[in-house]
Amino acid sequence: MTGSTLTSDPAEFYREGLAHGELRYQRCQWCATRFSQVSLLCATCGGTDFVWERSSGHGRIHALPRTAAPADWRECTAVVELDEGFRMHATLAPTAAHRIWRGAPVQLEVAAEQDGGLRPVFRPVAA
Ligand SMILES: [Zn+2]
Repeated sequence: MTGSTLTSDPAEFYREGLAHGELRYQRCQWCATRFSQVSLLCATCGGTDFVWERSSGHGRIHALPRTAAPADWRECTAVVELDEGFRMHATLAPTAAHRIWRGAPVQLEVAAEQDGGLRPVFRPVAA
């Protein structure tokens, strides 16, 4: 689906990706900046032409919240940098604390919300 044009509601297209276990993102056609969230205007160059691409789902933890306490780790939000070169805030799946560090490799999973919605979650994997 790389390079396909936007034919429907972007938010719906994004959700449809999650339903297929995919993380879809937008790439600016003008400057190639990648965005994890649906945008109408490129924050880098002001361009308005985007194409959808599909992330590999592989990335690394870029930043962790300061309040994260390994002793009672629950789901928490981190900044993940995807292999495609864009960053997004995302929830980490509950994981043994020793697997969670800046630079740790993570893999996309799709979690179902109680209301039936879907959201991307990242699970730290063995390096
Ligand atoms: Zn741009």
